[in-house]
Amino acid sequence: MKIFDCPNCSSPLFFENTKCVSCGSSLGFDPDELLFKSVSDDWSGYCKNHELGLCNWLISAGSKNTFCPACALNRKVPNASDGENFEKWKPLETAKHRLVYQLLKLGLPLVPKSEADEGLAFDFLGSDNDDNKMTGHANGVVTIILTEADSVHREQLRKQMSEAYRTLLGHFRHEIGHYYWPLLFKYKNLDRFRFFFGDERKDYGASLEQHYATGAPKNWNENFITAYASSHPWEDWAETWAHYLHLMDTLETAGSLGLSLKPEIAKPSYLEMVKAQDPYTINDFKIIFDASISLTCAANSLNRSMGLPDIYPFIIADTVYEKLNFIHEILKDYRQRNT
Ligand SMILES: [Zn+2]
Ligand SMILES: [Zn+2]
Ligand SMILES: [Zn+2]
Repeated sequence: MKIFDCPNCSSPLFFENTKCVSCGSSLGFDPDELLFKSVSDDWSGYCKNHELGLCNWLISAGSKNTFCPACALNRKVPNASDGENFEKWKPLETAKHRLVYQLLKLGLPLVPKSEADEGLAFDFLGSDNDDNKMTGHANGVVTIILTEADSVHREQLRKQMSEAYRTLLGHFRHEIGHYYWPLLFKYKNLDRFRFFFGDERKDYGASLEQHYATGAPKNWNENFITAYASSHPWEDWAETWAHYLHLMDTLETAGSLGLSLKPEIAKPSYLEMVKAQDPYTINDFKIIFDASISLTCAANSLNRSMGLPDIYPFIIADTVYEKLNFIHEILKDYRQRNT
């Protein structure tokens, strides 16, 4: 995520801000132009979820909508009177807004399910939900179980599942990968998909059952970004897609900060990064990937000096690089056809 600036005094603004700390003006995020604007006559004001402290996006004056494009995707949300679940919804909404920003940057369609069958909806459910649903995606509905927002619970699950990384933003990025799969491959590119990820017609239920019973193959890291990605081509897709979004977002941040890296050692090799650029404007994925390697090595080293775990605890094998490059190409192709 880039750093924004105040339309009034040009001071730095961060994505979740509603006020400029320098000049005090009230601000909101304009999802059409992807920048901050003053809350003024040109705008009817904030999205309805602003009242609940959940959103800082703006609705234009002429619009009939009461919710912004991110909040309009919500289908089931906890009641404001349901204290515990409501508090858990907040961090999920923060993560979801960051996801939606990135989908807008990538030029992907965002149609609420209430407007079209093939649209998208989010259900944020308590763990005691009637349908016994779990975090996941089905037919355009992304369900997130609210207890994921409890960091202790999430860490327990992370250990239990032997995952290197488990975050709210990571969940959103994974599940949205499932949602966009039919859009990108239903009528096109299916052969290419199968070349990189395997045949998705393989029995999904049986594959997952087998994965949980016997675990991933010993050498999974030669072909997959995570052990779970080895369970089925769809999960490989969603996991690799999530990593593509991780790389693009962190590099956008680095680019907007004007970061460059020049380690003081004789052979800095892959640690050296010339000034980072906005990855959404880069055609050649190799440039994005090389910068990401330097950046994650630097960020991991910074975290270690704070006694924290690595922010990017993954090693990307050559085969995984090819899959990421394929995702970059597919998205470029999609934008070309749809703009
Ligand atoms: Zn200002
Ligand atoms: Zn909103
Ligand atoms: Zn999945």
